[in-house]
Amino acid sequence: MVTTHPLSPSDVQEQFGSNFIPTSFVTQDGAAFWLQRAGQKRQLAIAAPPDAAVFSRFHGQSQAFRDGYRLMLCPTSHANARALRATLPSLTPQPFGLATSAGFGDRLGLATPGHIRALERVLAEAPGKTIAPIFAQQSIREMNRTRRTPDDVLSDATWGTFQAGWRGPVGADADHLKTPDDIDICAAAGYSFYTFDPGAYVDSEVDEAPAEAVQRKVEGLAWDRLESSAKDLERAYVGQRFRFEHLDLQPDKLAVYRAAAKYGGAIAHVAAMYRHLVSKGVPCEVEVSVDETETPTTHFEHIYIASELKRLGVKWVSLAPRYVGRFEKGVDYIGDLGELQRDLDGHAAIARALGPYKLSLHSGSDKFSVYPLIVQAAYGQVHLKTAGTSYLEALRVLSHVDTALFRAILDFDRGRYEEDKASYHVSADVSKVPPAASLSDRQLPALLEDFDAREVLHVTFGSTLAQFGEQLMAALYANEEAYDETLERHFYRHLKPFA
Ligand SMILES: [Zn+2]
Repeated sequence: MVTTHPLSPSDVQEQFGSNFIPTSFVTQDGAAFWLQRAGQKRQLAIAAPPDAAVFSRFHGQSQAFRDGYRLMLCPTSHANARALRATLPSLTPQPFGLATSAGFGDRLGLATPGHIRALERVLAEAPGKTIAPIFAQQSIREMNRTRRTPDDVLSDATWGTFQAGWRGPVGADADHLKTPDDIDICAAAGYSFYTFDPGAYVDSEVDEAPAEAVQRKVEGLAWDRLESSAKDLERAYVGQRFRFEHLDLQPDKLAVYRAAAKYGGAIAHVAAMYRHLVSKGVPCEVEVSVDETETPTTHFEHIYIASELKRLGVKWVSLAPRYVGRFEKGVDYIGDLGELQRDLDGHAAIARALGPYKLSLHSGSDKFSVYPLIVQAAYGQVHLKTAGTSYLEALRVLSHVDTALFRAILDFDRGRYEEDKASYHVSADVSKVPPAASLSDRQLPALLEDFDAREVLHVTFGSTLAQFGEQLMAALYANEEAYDETLERHFYRHLKPFA
């Protein structure tokens, strides 16, 4: 048996120079692991005694390396990412329960190191606080638009986490799942956090419908799937008094019927999704989200949703109601902050009384005015979701380092906006976004501060990546430090209020 002398990062640096990424270096069971650059790609390097069992778990190319060691250089494939997660268990996504948590959606698969720099900086300033990170988070819709699979998203986050040296726990959010098939592909990849989106079964017309129409909708609910009846519904809610902290609600029959007509189908769908997930036996936790619906979730509707899901045996760690006001993509909150505070206070009181579970803030990118309000309302029991803003920060880098490409993307996106905005909550007026030819290079970065330009650049990411993806990735690889630093600065502002 060879006596092992763990290598040090400086040994590796000596041999590989600037290709070596020092933050990635870690030793375990006599083997050293690190990431190094190989052109525009990364490679996993493993150094261990020649007969070490660890080599059989990875695929790559072996070469001689110092006395008593063998070196294996491995591609950053899905199989090697899986093997690395199995070898370094902190990289394996796990449930977080009620810990304050944040999701860092990353459409390009390059943002995790910058996210980690921001997170580490915020946590260093707040000893004893935790913000549990979810670096792998992408909705099925965004996977389709970016042509990525659940494995792609998870692998990119694994490599980024490893590269930046984050060794705390991580989660992985299979976001906005709409069907059992969505669950299957994400469970097979190893996700830990499952966000169910029953939005297609939320009947937002109910809010404006006359009483007879509401009555008919309630009669037409799938009562067998709800394991209940209209009589049970009345008995459970009509005239009952719901007192949670400062909230005091006593819904009449029409309010109860409206809640059931609006959300009954969604509840049946979530219960079916939940049972499907549980039957798979994977370690997991669940979020229920109704944020992408037309009309806000009232406090009583929240009580109804949570009570019914509990009755059906569903367990969840966070819930995203549709709050009042407008949560558009990549811009701050639009609406009355006083009204939002009252809305959040009520939802948080319900979440404490009927859970406790976390309140989730979707479309959480750039909602700087909302963060202190939701932290205060929910006593920090919050899950924050961001996604598109990391893509916009990539474009911000581009507006400095590759103005020709940025100009091409700007003009392309102006042409794509009307079509690509469908299914997103945005209100930008594309005619207010100037064509590239009318701007000097020095004026380009300011577009990332402009409401209309931000939304136009945001929702067109799918077509932009199809057209310019390779060039964009090449520019970001070539300016890796700039992207990391830009993300660090931007996400520091997102995370600070949560610590
Ligand atoms: Zn959402």
